[in-house]
Amino acid sequence: GALPGWHTVEHLVETAHETFAHVRDGEVADYIPALAEADPDLFGVCVVEVDGSVHSAGDVEHRFSVQSISKAFVFALACQEVGHERVLETIGVNNTGLSFSSVMAIELNGGHPMNPMVNVGAIATTALAPGADQDARWGFVRDGLSRFAGRELELDEGVLASETEGNQRNQSLALLLESYGRMPVDALEAVDTYTRQCSLLVDARDLAVMGATLAGGGVNPLTGARVVDAQIARDTLSVMATAGMYEHSGEWLFEVGAPAKSGVSGGIVTIAPGKGGLGTFSPPLDSAGNSVRGRRVAAYLADALGLDLFASA
Ligand code: GLU
Repeated sequence: GALPGWHTVEHLVETAHETFAHVRDGEVADYIPALAEADPDLFGVCVVEVDGSVHSAGDVEHRFSVQSISKAFVFALACQEVGHERVLETIGVNNTGLSFSSVMAIELNGGHPMNPMVNVGAIATTALAPGADQDARWGFVRDGLSRFAGRELELDEGVLASETEGNQRNQSLALLLESYGRMPVDALEAVDTYTRQCSLLVDARDLAVMGATLAGGGVNPLTGARVVDAQIARDTLSVMATAGMYEHSGEWLFEVGAPAKSGVSGGIVTIAPGKGGLGTFSPPLDSAGNSVRGRRVAAYLADALGLDLFASA
């Protein structure tokens, strides 16, 4: 079935925003200076239905860098380009059980990145982008993410500079993968393109549109454009369910029951296949790096709107 009627969804989105605005737990990410400046009170909730209906409450137009949320959508774009089998073999789809920037996870798995939601797997996924040179490959990623959002996404140069300066760990991960012969382009180029994709600016509404595009089998509900095939959208959702929420992916599936992806800037996108996408923004994070208010909103709306894949009623 679809979501409840328009007015019910509108009311529940407003109620979710009102209810969880009072939550004060969590810490704003401070591992790069540009993120530490985020206002912890900012809070936006947006649901976009596959028919294009938009329901917003709070700061849904405040822009922030997309960060790790980009991983899921670049995965979809890469799958569309090189196919399910090659991605399964070169990137993998199993949970690492370790942190998102773990060197151990690579070593324990024979130099394999394991999945596209951890940094090394995301960098290797970005490295699958087609194009004759880095400009063309970056263009593929930026344009593809923009098609998911239904508008041209801009780069935050400040975030990019800040992240580039502190990128030694991601560079190490990519070089380690390259040492195993598993990096399709120059490792440092791939890290640079990945860092750019993380620095693209989105708002909670964009996230909901991007989520609704996956929910609608790869068709953007606002522009009507097909971004990826339905089978690719489905593959992407399965990987998000496994590893989209850092080390709390299992807990998330247990509490919310829907595929999602978070990022350190405080965004979360949650998808109800066939129904719609939920985008939330609130910078304070829990210990795994997931937005605290975002998690509360998703659990609440999963129940109230029927987003839970595992619920029989
Ligand atoms: N650009 C960030 C990094 O690779 C993304 C972090 C995240 O959102 O998890 O460290």
